[in-house]
Amino acid sequence: MLSVDNIEVVYNGVIRAVQHVSLKVPDGGVVALLGANGAGKTSVLRAISGLLGMQRGKLIGGTITLDGERIDKLEASQIVKRRLVQVPEGRRIFGSLTVEENLRAGGYSRNDRVALRKTFDQVMTLFPVLAERRKMSAGYLSGGEQQMLAIGRAMMAAPRLLLLDEPSLGLAPVIVQQIRSIITQINSEGTAILVVEQNATMALSVAQHGYIMKTGEIVLDRSAAEMMADDQVKRFYLGLNEAGGRLDFSRLKDKAVRLTERTERKAGV
Ligand code: ATP
Repeated sequence: MLSVDNIEVVYNGVIRAVQHVSLKVPDGGVVALLGANGAGKTSVLRAISGLLGMQRGKLIGGTITLDGERIDKLEASQIVKRRLVQVPEGRRIFGSLTVEENLRAGGYSRNDRVALRKTFDQVMTLFPVLAERRKMSAGYLSGGEQQMLAIGRAMMAAPRLLLLDEPSLGLAPVIVQQIRSIITQINSEGTAILVVEQNATMALSVAQHGYIMKTGEIVLDRSAAEMMADDQVKRFYLGLNEAGGRLDFSRLKDKAVRLTERTERKAGV
């Protein structure tokens, strides 16, 4: 359904953030886009949802198509109308508006009041905690609740493809599990999902396919099951130990320094 082909992104006319990136999201599928800080994942999402311009970024090469239609020259609002909706990193909810007002703002691209009412009720069912806090200012919600509100707000546009940027960022493990099951539930109702994550274990546990980015390029393109089964991929690209836990890079670094010192001592340096 979504096809990104050989795209290139620059910021301020000079900073090349993404190059030669191609990926696909099939109808109803879940795809994970993984990689370390600054690898270019968010830039790929912004290119898809037409939000690069707001960041002084530009798509300078490649094409993006949705069901065969070129969307890379469309305005962000026209892309939302095609039901391709991004949940930005850092949530960006409207803190001074109530939960309900935030959700209604997410439905701005739709005119059918009856359909909107129905979606609103579905969002309330999907997120009971938001239903409870419906009249509360969104600024008073916890981090996890704000993430749920951001996803709920995107759901108000009735997306067929949801772009999620780091939904687990800064959340406690128990809340990450809740977000994970919400992603699964949204997908089971037919919405395709492209999820950007640093939490590879979470993302690969919901995705069928994964891409790993490094310094602006895709360095690995495999099924999620293959990625999780490959110890080398886990260690070198995803920073996970055999049990699926995160490697402690600071300790690894200490160990590397100790080894170097020992080698140097032996060599009499
Ligand atoms: P993160 O997890 O930190 O968001 P990321 O993989 O999503 O990382 P991007 O945010 O896409 O990576 O950043 C890719 C590169 O583009 C980085 O070198 C970053 O500094 C640069 N970049 C991102 N946004 C901008 C911007 N608005 N202006 C200038 N450079 C930017």
